[in-house]
Amino acid sequence: MANERTFSIIKPDATKLGVVGKIIARFESEGLRICAVKKIHMSKRVAEGFYAVHAGRPFFDELTDFMSSGPCVVMVLEGDNAISENRRIMGATNPDDADEGTLRKLYGAHIGNNAVHGSDAPETAAVEIAYFFAGTELH
Ligand code: GDP
Repeated sequence: MANERTFSIIKPDATKLGVVGKIIARFESEGLRICAVKKIHMSKRVAEGFYAVHAGRPFFDELTDFMSSGPCVVMVLEGDNAISENRRIMGATNPDDADEGTLRKLYGAHIGNNAVHGSDAPETAAVEIAYFFAGTELH
C-alpha cells in the first residue's frame, strides 16, 4: 500500500450545515491523518483557477459561483492509498448515486452541492495541494 497525500475540501454547503467536525472526525476514524487544515472563503477568481480543468463546461459558472458562495475548509489528508480512500469515503459525484453512509450521501443535496471535494490522482493532488498550501504548512 502506498502512503500518499491528497487534497480535500469541505464545500460551502457542508460548512453551512455545521458538519465540519463530523467530516474531519470521519476522515480520522478511517485512518486518514490531517497534515494541514484551514478555513478560507474563495473569491470567484480563485474558484475559477482551482477548477480550470472544467472551464468551458456548461456547469462551470454555477460551480465557481457555489464554491465562492461561502467559507470552505481546505485540507491535506495523508494515509495508505489516501486518494482512493478519500474518494471511497466521499462517494459518487452525484449524491443520488452515492452509497449509503458516504459523505456525499449524508451531507450532499445534489450534484452541484455535493459537500466535499477530493483529488482524483497523484498529479492532481500535488497541483491542488500547492494551490492552497505552502510546503512549510504541511506537517
Ligand atoms: P468529482 O471529482 O467527483 O468532484 O467530480 P468532477 O471532477 O467530475 O466535477 C467537479 C465538480 O463539479 C463536482 O464535484 C460537482 O460539484 C460539479 N459538477 C459536476 N457536474 C455538474 C453538473 O452537471 N452541474 C453542477 N452544478 N455541478 C457539477
